[in-house]
Amino acid sequence: MALPDPVVQPDPVSQPDPPDGGATPSGAGLRPALTDLSLEGWAALGDLPSARSFTARQVRRWLYAKGATTVDEMSDLTLALRQELDAAWRLRKGTLARTYPSRDGTTGILTRLDDGQLIESVSIPEGDRRTLCISSQVGCAVGCTFCASGTEGALRNLTAGEILEQILVARELEPQRPLTNYVFMGSGEPTHNLPAVLQAIAVMNSPAGLGIGARRITVSTIGHPAALRRLAEVEIPFNVALSLHAPTDLAREALMPGLGASDLPATLDAALERFEATGRRLTAEVVLLGGVNDGLDEAEAFGRLLGGRPVAVNLIPWNPVPGLPHEPPVASRVDAFADALRRAGVTVTVRRPRGQDVGVACGQLKRRSDRREDQP
Ligand code: SAH
Ligand code: SF4
Repeated sequence: MALPDPVVQPDPVSQPDPPDGGATPSGAGLRPALTDLSLEGWAALGDLPSARSFTARQVRRWLYAKGATTVDEMSDLTLALRQELDAAWRLRKGTLARTYPSRDGTTGILTRLDDGQLIESVSIPEGDRRTLCISSQVGCAVGCTFCASGTEGALRNLTAGEILEQILVARELEPQRPLTNYVFMGSGEPTHNLPAVLQAIAVMNSPAGLGIGARRITVSTIGHPAALRRLAEVEIPFNVALSLHAPTDLAREALMPGLGASDLPATLDAALERFEATGRRLTAEVVLLGGVNDGLDEAEAFGRLLGGRPVAVNLIPWNPVPGLPHEPPVASRVDAFADALRRAGVTVTVRRPRGQDVGVACGQLKRRSDRREDQP
């Protein structure tokens, strides 16, 4: 019998927010940040005494299209309006804490938030593309046995502004190398913070915001069927990547403790509902852990599960995280795994490890700085 879907609301991770934090953990007495405004919320700028009908549009252009970091740069606003804006609003809430440039061109970026929490993003060049890996939470409640982000639990959700600012910061760090793709694959489980993630995606996608095409945005998720169905209802046709990691429910539950009861058939059906709505092929992610899930038996089971479905598999050899009880897979097993999947008619890509010299895999930057291996 199929198990009932795990309850997605209330989100298990929305509770650990600090008591003074809530949905906008900006700290007492701090002005709200413009980056936290939803597209509709920008109407609030009409309350400024000197505002005109086009003020919100002008300021939004400065923030998102021109990347202004101070009100002083907004040269087409009257001085009075600039002063009123500055008194009532901050442009952003995070500040760049430090960057970790890797030899292969990958850059890890740590941002410090109002409450002192650190979040990480990773900018990854590949040919003429540059992908930004974005975090959606500080930490993660799922606690996958192989992931650095899960080691501390979910400390709090990011606000939409904190999610978006990762893009603004990365964009200005390397203006000569424009970002082309955006993946929610940093720390956090996006479906545990869905309102903020969806608000951020709406701003990312809108021509009035960052104007990023939906096809350049990917949300990676552990994939509760109920959460996937909620994603299927969203009109913006962004991509979804489903973290599978194992071809059986029992093995998934062991690797992803906070997932709860896994129901693979229901998960795939719900994910493919979204495929039907958007026409986008689903990506399934499998982190390969040496001696744990990298055998031919697993590959063949994946083949039976996915063969004939519009799913492409991304094989990710595990990026070592000090202190976690895993080994990376040996290359020959990765190749054999990929071949077995291909024999079963499944499209496979093997992801090359990136940024390993500076340890920029999911959740690793923050962990490094928490452990004071190198303080920002
Ligand atoms: N919570 C979401 C999105 C963030 S993790 C999810 O799990 O899908 C994004 C991807 O990075 C996931 O597929 C995850 O399994 C993978 N990942 C996490 N830690 C990793 C590591 N040490 N090495 C390789 N991939 C890792
Ligand atoms: Fe959370 Fe994703 Fe890391 Fe698992 S892999 S602990 S779901 S961030």
